Formats: sequence, structure tokens, C-alpha cells
Amino acid sequence: MATSSGNGLADFRIRIASTGDIFEVPSDKSILNILRENGYGVESYCTSGLCGTCRVRYLEGEPDHRDLILDDEEKAEYLTTCISRCKSEEIVLDLPPPGSEGAVITPERPLAIVDQSICVACLTCVRACTYGAAAIDSDAVGVGGIIGAATVDADECSGCGLCAAACPTGAISMTLFADGDVISKVNSLFNPDRFSATGAVGRPLSEPWIVTFCCPHSAPSVKALGDAPSVGLDIVEMPCTGRIDNLHLMRTFEDGADGVIVSGCEPGRCYHTTGNLNAAKRTDRVCGWLDDVGLGADRLRMVHVPPRNGAAPFAEAANSLADAVRTLGPNPLRVAREADPTAGEDRDASSEVAPEDALLAELGLI
Ligand code: SF4
Ligand code: SF4
Repeated sequence: MATSSGNGLADFRIRIASTGDIFEVPSDKSILNILRENGYGVESYCTSGLCGTCRVRYLEGEPDHRDLILDDEEKAEYLTTCISRCKSEEIVLDLPPPGSEGAVITPERPLAIVDQSICVACLTCVRACTYGAAAIDSDAVGVGGIIGAATVDADECSGCGLCAAACPTGAISMTLFADGDVISKVNSLFNPDRFSATGAVGRPLSEPWIVTFCCPHSAPSVKALGDAPSVGLDIVEMPCTGRIDNLHLMRTFEDGADGVIVSGCEPGRCYHTTGNLNAAKRTDRVCGWLDDVGLGADRLRMVHVPPRNGAAPFAEAANSLADAVRTLGPNPLRVAREADPTAGEDRDASSEVAPEDALLAELGLI
């Protein structure tokens, strides 16, 4: 077995098939770090398991996939070297020797794209972007013919999505983790097949149905809890909690979640610097809306867990949320869907109705 170290990650070995080189990968370094330190050229971009640029074919061993981009078929052949670890002691990589040309796959890049026709040049994205990629182009024309509109420098953009979640007009879309993608994922959790006349499959109404949005760095802590008997937990992985939009949270309640927990890194330890702080503010705002519509602010929490060894604090937060939800009772919209599993299915993911208004309408309050 690979060695377990203080940060909860295991050390392991990589072997390069073409050269026979063997390198140790300590818990505080990535495979990508080690390859580069030893002269193996691997392209990378986001370095957070989001874009897949650094993927490499493996020939033997069992990877611990931690990316958000490879599908199951790809995972059977490739691993992302920036973030993935290894469950076996050694993994064998199919890389050409240093200095030779290698076959590098260039997948779709994660990128923010601005629709300047609805940009009001409010600077919110410029302030949200911690990479200096978003700026106002004074030669561009924004909504209503105003002078100046936002632009994104594709070479600097990491695709974190902080700007898209912050933009008040919805002018920014993402090539990966677009709003429609996130909402489709949430919708799939509340698929009619998962409801029945007596309660969600394997999940009676007396059992809280909780959805967790988490970043890649807190995901291992969230997955450690998994489907614990006391908490029915579904997981939506995001590139950063700063990508989580008010819309995503409200849609999750509209679909029937009894509770939602946002799991991110501790303040000061966010991979994208301030994504977790933005998420905390957004969560507070949505709590206010939940109170306004009578669902109760206690149904939504943000938890900051250590990037490693965060399983215990996350479990405590999830169980505390489940207790609060039991006190409040099931989400009335879930109760309605238990009666008619197809209710609300015709909602449009790109609806322009404000998320708080959409929820009020679902509850029959407006
Ligand atoms: S946040 Fe949105 S509306 Fe404001 S400047 Fe950026 S793109 Fe334009
Ligand atoms: S996606 Fe992230 S890096 Fe790119 S412009 Fe938006 S905030 Fe900046």
C-alpha cells in the first residue's frame, strides 16, 4: 500500500514506460510537478482538474481520479496529472522520453465568454476575477449603446467561473460548467424515476434529501460521508464554490431539495483565492430569499472544510443541516413532486425569471 502522510494524501510511485524512469510522488506534489521537475513536458492549463489538458495515458496501476472533466470511458485510459492521485503503489505512464514530441490532446478549454450586447460595464466581473483576465474594453459597445463593455483575455482566463456567477446581467457564459449544464445536473438528481408514490426511491419523506455543491478540493471530504444512512446526500461537483450562482441554489430547491450545503475550502485557502468568500456571501443572500418565501433560511448552509482531512467537519455540518431540515419538515415542493413526479419538469434552464420569483411562483405565492 502507498504511504499515508499527514495531509491525508498517500505517496506513490510513477514509472515511465518508455524510459523506465521511476519517481516518487510525495503527498505535497502532483504528478505534473514531478514530471516537469524531471524534464517530461506535459501541457497544462487550469491545474485544477477542470480542463483535462494535462491528461496522460496510463498502462498499469489504479488512478485515484479527482478531476471534473474525464468521463468513465476516458478514465479507463487516462488520468489528469495535475490533480489525480494513485490508489496503487505504482502507476505506469505512457509518455515519450524527455525532449521528444508527444501526442498531446487538446480538449475544449474552460473559458469565460462575454455577450457584450447585455453588458452594463458594471466592473463586477473585473473585481471578481483573481487572474486579471477580465477587463473593460472602452472601445466596445455595451447594452443600449453605452460605451465600454467587459472582455476576457483568453490567455489569462482559468475558466474558474467566478465572473459568471457574479455578473448581474448574465452576460458571461462558460464553455464548461455553463448554467445549463449545472441545472441539468441538478434536474437529473430529481429525475421522476427517483420519486415514487410513497417517497423518493430509498428515501422516504421523513428522510432529508440534501444536495451538496462542492469544489474539487473539498470533494474528497464530501464523498467520505457519501450516502450515510442519516443523510440522503447528492453531490454536484463544481470547479470552485465561487462558480455557484444564486440560480443554481434556487433551482435545487425548486426541484425539491430539503436542504442544500455548499462545501468549500477555508478562508485564505481557496484555489481561486476568493471563490469561497464570494460563495459565502451568495449563500447568505439566498438564505434571505428562502426566509422570504417561507421555506426557511435554515435549509441552506455553507461549510468551510480543510482541503485535506475535512471529512469530520463536513459530516458534522451535514448532520446538523439534516437535523434542522427534520425540524422544518420536507420541502413543500418535494412533497408536491412526490404526488406528481413530473411536476415542474417543463421549466426552462435558461429562464429569465429571477430565481427568487421563480421559487415564489412554484410555491404559489405569486
Ligand atoms: S459583470 Fe457582467 S455586466 Fe458587469 S461588466 Fe462584467 S460582463 Fe458586464
Ligand atoms: S472565468 Fe475566472 S479567470 Fe476567467 S475571466 Fe472569469 S473570473 Fe477571470
